[in-house]
Amino acid sequence: STPVSIVSAIGAATRKGILFKGGNSLETAGKIDILAFDKTGTLTEGLPKVLNIYSLGEQERSSILQIAASLEQRSEHPLAKAIIAEAKKQGLTLQTPHEFVAIPGKGIQAKLSDKLDCGVQDPQVASLLGKNHLLPHLNQEFYMVGNRRLFTNIPPEVSSLLAEISNLGQTPVLVGTKGGLIGIITLADGLRLEAREAVRLIETAGPKEVVILTGDSKSVAQQMVEQLGIFDYRAELLPKDKLLEIQRLQEQGIVGMVGDGINDAPALASADISFAIGRTDIALETADVVLVADDLRRLAYAISLSRKTVSVIQ
Ligand code: ADP
Ligand code: MG
Repeated sequence: STPVSIVSAIGAATRKGILFKGGNSLETAGKIDILAFDKTGTLTEGLPKVLNIYSLGEQERSSILQIAASLEQRSEHPLAKAIIAEAKKQGLTLQTPHEFVAIPGKGIQAKLSDKLDCGVQDPQVASLLGKNHLLPHLNQEFYMVGNRRLFTNIPPEVSSLLAEISNLGQTPVLVGTKGGLIGIITLADGLRLEAREAVRLIETAGPKEVVILTGDSKSVAQQMVEQLGIFDYRAELLPKDKLLEIQRLQEQGIVGMVGDGINDAPALASADISFAIGRTDIALETADVVLVADDLRRLAYAISLSRKTVSVIQ
């Protein structure tokens, strides 16, 4: 049976907004050797802002934003929210995405239907009215929004523009079709205010090594590592690569993983103990420990509490 001290520690943690899903996770939290962090939404605010839009062809910059935002309506990614917010700010009317597909670690794709002139937005309503000429025109072409891995044949001059954007610590989001790129939207996402302090507290609390696992570029990860005084990073990882990285780190000791749930589920599930920050359904389901308080310093508290509790039992 579970010792009384563990039950009371779980209670104390709950009052601080740290939900341990069982006695085992409380015991493991204090034994972590390596703690891996997701970046977007975990070490950063997860509320990036659009900084710039580049047109690479004929399209107006507003039209590039309009296409991207229309697709992003179906995505949960923090970049999606920022792109939609910018489109709304510019007063753009969005189109409806069809045949939407999310490609983990890369981006999204969908077809778009043009908006109706008559003001009838629902195709079923339009067809009930029997006015076929009022049906939305479905563009048969797939649009794609995401990082460079989503596109083949990126011209060298675009490659060097992408490198410049990344060197500034900004994230480029590419917009295009199978036929080629039409534009780039650049975004930046600030560190959580408490991130630096939290990393320091965590390193004092126990784990020997803290690393960042991210789908973002090396230069963005490098900047983050320097700002936070973090040991190391692995960049440009697909969700399945994050899982492989966790397994590789497990050869060196007990591995904890912290994520915000979006695209991190496989890595969270394979770590010895997983922490989720925020309230996404995936995070709540997959993680052993949920930080509903949305403050990374609580992670250090959780690890210290676990150490104390376990040393009392032994
Ligand atoms: P991370 O949380 O470390 O950024 P993700 O796996 O969530 O890792 O995303 C990896 C990368 O895939 C992002 O940095 C971005 O370049 C791209 N991406 C994923 N989803 C989208 C989306 N909806 N819109 C634009 N880019 C996306
Ligand atoms: Mg994330």
